[in-house]
Amino acid sequence: MRSVKNPFLFLLSCLAVIIYFSMLAPGPGRSAANLAVSTDPSDRVASSASGENAKLKLDLNWRFGAKPQRGWYLYTPLIQGLLNTSAAPETSVFAQALAGWQRSEGLAPTGVLDQETWIKMVAVFQSRRIKDRSTPPPASLTLVPSSKFFDPERPKDLRYVERQAYEAYVKLVAAAEGDLSISSDENWLKVISAFRSPAYQAKLRKQSPKSGRAGLAVNSPHFTGRALDIYVGGEPVSTNDRNRAKQVDTMVYQWLVKNAGRFGFYPYFYEPWHWEYRPQDAAATSSER
Ligand SMILES: [Zn+2]
Repeated sequence: MRSVKNPFLFLLSCLAVIIYFSMLAPGPGRSAANLAVSTDPSDRVASSASGENAKLKLDLNWRFGAKPQRGWYLYTPLIQGLLNTSAAPETSVFAQALAGWQRSEGLAPTGVLDQETWIKMVAVFQSRRIKDRSTPPPASLTLVPSSKFFDPERPKDLRYVERQAYEAYVKLVAAAEGDLSISSDENWLKVISAFRSPAYQAKLRKQSPKSGRAGLAVNSPHFTGRALDIYVGGEPVSTNDRNRAKQVDTMVYQWLVKNAGRFGFYPYFYEPWHWEYRPQDAAATSSER
């Protein structure tokens, strides 16, 4: 049996082991220090990012399809929805929420809504759209009364909506009218366009080959009867930036961004009037809540 030759050395090594393990264990002093270190940089990020966001919301150059675009201010309500904040884009609260989102998407958490981040957001918005654009069997389409349409003269052929989408739309409108005290005599949320058959879409293309993206769409979500263009203000369906700025500023549009998901409707980010019914996502959203 070996005895301890040098008790002093033995004590010293015991002390070293104790010190080592006490450093590994969490202590109140240390966790407070860690917290202080981790909040500092994010505060710095947020204050410089908010200045950049104030500029980029108006100036960021990006393209959508072939069309050059400027800024992301038109999408502020959608971005706030995605980030789960009501903070304005030029605030540090917004930048902090954005940094959190960037981190969750594997982007550098700069808090700046730059081109890379914006393109990622557009991809997320686009991923929520109807994928299967096939035409439903005629029995699942329902004829909607002309009183529900923005244009009460709209011909019968153009007043069909997929049955479930229509039921959800009626509930959505009733909820909006209750929340916003809008009357059904007004045009708010009236249907501008719903089901369009591939044949009708082809006819539109032939008549006016320069009728823009919606008219030219070869594979339109309107074929499903589950895509509705509804009135949210301004010129009903003009993508002109000034018109869209007016639309996204209405109480009705902002209500839709916050509430339409409860009824299974999801926005097409680029056209404030175009909403798509995807009930499978509504079920997923409500089970998360
Ligand atoms: Zn549409």
